[in-house]
Amino acid sequence: MSLIFNEVEYTYNPGTSFEKKAVTDISFKIDDGDFVAIIGQTGSGKSTLIQMMNGLIKPSKGEIYYNGEDIWDKDYSRKKLRGKVGMVFQYPEHQLFETSVIKDVCFGPKNIGMKELDAQISAFEALKEVGVGDEFIDYSPLELSGGMKRRVAIAGVLAMKPEVIILDEPTAGLDPEGRNHILGLLKRLNEEKGITIVLVSHSMEDVAKYAHKVIVMNKGNMVAYDDTMKVFADKEIIDEAGLALPQMCMLYFGLAGKGILLPDIPRDETDAYKMISDLYENMN
Ligand code: ADP
Repeated sequence: MSLIFNEVEYTYNPGTSFEKKAVTDISFKIDDGDFVAIIGQTGSGKSTLIQMMNGLIKPSKGEIYYNGEDIWDKDYSRKKLRGKVGMVFQYPEHQLFETSVIKDVCFGPKNIGMKELDAQISAFEALKEVGVGDEFIDYSPLELSGGMKRRVAIAGVLAMKPEVIILDEPTAGLDPEGRNHILGLLKRLNEEKGITIVLVSHSMEDVAKYAHKVIVMNKGNMVAYDDTMKVFADKEIIDEAGLALPQMCMLYFGLAGKGILLPDIPRDETDAYKMISDLYENMN
């Protein structure tokens, strides 16, 4: 799998008084098995960017290639693409509309042309993967808790057997347990199934902990795309984009200011604890 943007631009309502250029001159490549986070303030162009990734909206300029094929070529099947590049929207539970969990999860696979039985098998597997037990399959999605609804929505995408899953703030509004479950699930899908993950997130902590790479958006421009810790090491870019550094970066820079240099920016508390203990032991 590879996804390439070449000098992509998107303008809403072109030629009207509501014209608004939302993203400008974006070029990047996402490789197979990557875990990429997209960060940036509200209005920086994140949603516009991800909607172009699976062909929901067409760039005003530039090209998008999926596995080397231009997704806006006349003969290209964007319906198939949407099965390969699955999208979990913000508050995906608002899109659960079938009368039962199983019907909802089967909707995506059937929509991309899977036969009824195959769709059901795929749906069962997906529900198991996201941790929704068999006892829930005949429930109305509306009867489920917030976290469970979101798992069902992710299962609906997973059941299409995607190569890439794009998620817009999948943990928004969930309690810590729900958040950890979803993020742990994404990590597992990425590491064990090799599914490429693109995650829009406002939580710098989650990004530092889970993403391999980060795209930083600022006023419609992509101002950085690099390994996560390299991006967070560039305080200026993060400041200019109006973002905060993850706490572990602040810890790293705070200690460095006092002459205590950790070997790297810790990804999370466990990482920090280990680095500081090692440093302490080496001093004694
Ligand atoms: P983000 O996801 O980072 O909040 P968006 O991609 O939603 O950013 O928005 C980028 C810019 O495009 C913003 O200035 C926003 O107001 C504008 N925009 C988004 N959607 C529309 C739309 N449907 N019509 C007009 N302008 C829009």
